[in-house]
This record gives sequence, structure tokens and C-alpha cells, in this order.
Amino acid sequence: LVSRKWKVGKTVVDLGDGVVIGDGSLAVMAGPCSIENEAQVQGVIEHLVGNGVRIMRGGVFKPRSSPYAFRGLGIDGLKMWYAQARKAGIKIISEVMQVSQIAEMHDYVDVFQVGARNTQNFNLLDELGKVDKAVMIKRGISGTIEELLYSAEYVFAAGNEKLILCERGIRTYEKASRNTMDINAIPILKEKTHLPVVADPSHGIGIREFVAPVALATVMAGADGVIYETHQEPEKAASDGQQTLDFEESARLIGQLRRAHALL
Ligand code: PEP
Ligand code: MN
Repeated sequence: LVSRKWKVGKTVVDLGDGVVIGDGSLAVMAGPCSIENEAQVQGVIEHLVGNGVRIMRGGVFKPRSSPYAFRGLGIDGLKMWYAQARKAGIKIISEVMQVSQIAEMHDYVDVFQVGARNTQNFNLLDELGKVDKAVMIKRGISGTIEELLYSAEYVFAAGNEKLILCERGIRTYEKASRNTMDINAIPILKEKTHLPVVADPSHGIGIREFVAPVALATVMAGADGVIYETHQEPEKAASDGQQTLDFEESARLIGQLRRAHALL
């Protein structure tokens, strides 16, 4: 069902209020790795609004390698974020880690993010297939392109066609970067599926200085959007500060992304 053999033309995911992914425009989604507090959210929203970005990312349920690391503010953090985002006309994308969180998050998100550690959580995918909200599925840490497409197939087959795929880098033998951003996946996915394909250069390379060039490369490779991490004080971020852009770097990147996309 997610194959181009099934559907000619492309799937356009409409989040309402003129926010659309996959229509040929470039969707920019940015925000902190983790939602931390009200002042942080306020600052990020002002930064996004000031730069014409309509979708904010942020985790309240965080998958952390260590159980002792910050694991997110939970549902109260999402409600606080939602209250501010709605006032500013900003859409929310946030990670759902388990089936029980779908119902509690439902009214406060515009896009459910399935993280790389849950790409093959098939029960979660089944349940997201029954939801009337968009879903973005990240590629598994060691997942193949085919496996990502099968994950999307679960959601689509269960009835939800508002789907977005995300390349976020894969684990390889290379240790010079956090992950290996598979730029190849973008044109390959675009050829295989009618779904929008976005790129996450923050997790893809994991090194702040190199997020912008990789982000630009994914746009030139045909990505329908870019999702990256930004924070007012990356060095103080509760998670992923090492790959998080400050607002100056973020504003510069937004301009570059738009200019790059206009060249296509
Ligand atoms: C995130 O987006 O902060 C995240 C945890 O991403 P991934 O699932 O790609 O590791
Ligand atoms: Mn992160």
C-alpha cells in the first residue's frame, strides 16, 4: 500500500492551518531534543515564529540509553507545551513510546513520532494505524529501507494514511559520527513510496557543526522536509546538546534550507 505500484501521485500530509508536508514545499521542523520547562518552550516558539517555522519537535517521553539520564517531563510537559504552541499557531511533533501513551497524547499532538528504537514495535504501529493524526516513522537504528517501508505498511494497512518517513542515520562501523546519515535512502525511498520523506541530520551525524551541511545535502537529495534540534543554550540541554543548534545557527540554517530548496 505504501508502494508507488499501489498509488500514483504523492501523499500529502495536511496538518491544518496551511501546514502541509509532501506537497513540493520544504517542511522545516525544529525544536529541542527534550521539552524541559516553560521558559525553554517559550523561547523556542519565539525563535520558530520569528523564522516562519510552523512545526516544533520535542520529546516528553525520551528513550535514553541509560536509565539514569533525563527521561522527559511526561504528559504534563506535553500539555504545557501544547498550551503555548496553540497560541502561537505552532504544530507539535512528539515521540510516542508505547501504546498506552497514544490516548493520553492524542489531543496534544499533531504528529506522533515513532522513534528509531520503536520502528519495529508492531503493536504500536497497529494502534497508530487507528488514529486520526499524522504519524512520522523514523528508520530503525540498524533498519533497512525495506524494513522501514514494512513498518509504514503496518500503519497504512491499519487505516492511517497520514504517514511520513524519516531517515535519521543508521549504525555502521564508522565511529567518527554518532550515526551514518544514509543520504542514499532519500532518493531510494522517494522512488519506492508515495509517502513524504524527511531527514533528521541532528541524529544522522550527531555533531553540531556538521548538522547544517548534512541538512542541506538531504534537501538536494530530494527530502520533503528536515527535522533538527535547536535550543537557546545547547550546552545546557537536558539531552543531545552536542548535536543541537543554537538559535543563531538555526536561523542561518533555515535561510540556507529555503535557498537550497529553491534551486531544485
Ligand atoms: C529524537 O528525535 O530525539 C530521538 C530520540 O530520535 P531517534 O529515535 O531517531 O533516536
Ligand atoms: Mn534527540
